[in-house]
Amino acid sequence: MEWEPVVGLEVHAELRTQSKMFCGCAVVDCTVAEPNTHTCPVCLGMPGSLPVINRRAVDLGLRVALALGCRVAPVSVFARKNYFYPDLPKGYQISQYELPLAAEGVLKILPGEQTRVIRIRRVHLEEDTGKLFHEEKPARSLVDLNRAGVPLLEIVSEPDMHSVEEVKAYATTLRRLLQYLEVNSGDMEKGVIRFEANISLRPKGATELGTRVEIKNLNSFRALTRSMEYEVERQAARLSEGQAIRQETLGWDENAGRTYSQRSKEEAHDYRYFPEPDLPPLEVSPQWLEQIRRTVPELPDALCDRLVSQFGLGRYDAEVLVAERSTAEYFQRAVKTSGAPGRTVAAWLTGDLFGLLNTRNLTLEGRGGEPVLPAEEFGALIRMVSEGRINGPTGKSLLVEMIDTGKTAEVLVSEGSLGQITDEDTLRSAVRKTLVENPGQVASFRGGKTSVIQWLLGQVMKTTGGRANPQTVRKMLEEELARGSKE
Ligand code: ADP
Ligand code: MG
Ligand code: ZN
Repeated sequence: MEWEPVVGLEVHAELRTQSKMFCGCAVVDCTVAEPNTHTCPVCLGMPGSLPVINRRAVDLGLRVALALGCRVAPVSVFARKNYFYPDLPKGYQISQYELPLAAEGVLKILPGEQTRVIRIRRVHLEEDTGKLFHEEKPARSLVDLNRAGVPLLEIVSEPDMHSVEEVKAYATTLRRLLQYLEVNSGDMEKGVIRFEANISLRPKGATELGTRVEIKNLNSFRALTRSMEYEVERQAARLSEGQAIRQETLGWDENAGRTYSQRSKEEAHDYRYFPEPDLPPLEVSPQWLEQIRRTVPELPDALCDRLVSQFGLGRYDAEVLVAERSTAEYFQRAVKTSGAPGRTVAAWLTGDLFGLLNTRNLTLEGRGGEPVLPAEEFGALIRMVSEGRINGPTGKSLLVEMIDTGKTAEVLVSEGSLGQITDEDTLRSAVRKTLVENPGQVASFRGGKTSVIQWLLGQVMKTTGGRANPQTVRKMLEEELARGSKE
């Protein structure tokens, strides 16, 4: 029997707001801030405290909903999801249940050659829980409530994915979208995006859904894909033996590389959902939505199409450039200063520069916000090559020096870093060779078109790989041309 995996993902993304979802506490980097220093009666769940909806969080949530092509609810409702756990001081989480912020969207992904459309079931707002730290010696658990109440957007897909490649493409495409929309940093290491994977199998060709498990708390693409691979294999083995799959909630043990049972699957009624009595329904007017629509920037797919049509790039190169918004911006700025075709700049960027950065363990953003190489300086280097002032190989070695010294190409050249040819005889023969090879230009010079000398100078610079001193060459050209006309 051949089995087809069926996967639906629930993605939790922190929203980049200044303050928390229902109180004025600052949202801080929980990997840095002193624990429990950004809390108040509201996010601590003190009796009598009252939540207030953070309008900015709704703005950001709406931006995502629009970018996913969702139908936005004119009225959505916050609900209490009741359960007991030490990271949840109130004893319930404020979420949205029956009436979510938005529903019925789509995300286009490119898992291989073929585009696939994954349907989005719903997008809703909720609050994050605190963070638990389990220690062994002494055996105790510590709670940090700085994260309690941080705005979260939950994006739930339909069970439309059928392979690890599709799941990976969906997760990375969604992360990229959130970054482009500037609603989430995309910093996976800081836990700002977390996945839950619902996985079932069915006989290939069947249309009904099988019994699913839900794997909680997957914090990286690697954990997401590895846990899926493990689960697909485990379920296939069980089903092939004629055993049933137990509907349950699983954890993922990264070190052991396997899933483990956390609890049998809770049903919605276990949470005793009911509308949050302390918050009014959330009304989104057409005007509000229109205002948000204007803040949606050019999205990766559109940008990719534009790079192809405007700069004549291949689809693959364009995809590489739009993987990070900052890369696409860097490319466009470099093209502007280089005056060179987009294809040329793309080759320099994705081939040479990325390669160099890789070997030095650097990224375009560089260290602490200081770019390693500003796009304009990179563009200026390419300009020198495309204008023939230096040749390609020389340009490439200059690029290495630029990265390593932080100096511009112009400075490096004037410092003689190219290893200038000073030997007069070598230069003189390069000049003569150029004149012999270009009789037409020589003739027009002698016919009075003296500006041709600039072109000839360029030719000599080209044949010497930019390593000649332009002043010396010009002097020699003048001498040689004068001599020739006397003969
Ligand atoms: P909950 O997890 O709260 O029960 P849902 O029932 O709405 O929520 O489902 C959550 C996720 O599980 C969705 O992404 C959905 O696509 C996915 N899902 C539902 N049924 C299956 C199934 N049989 N196999 C795989 N994924 C499923
Ligand atoms: Mg779920
Ligand atoms: Zn607070």
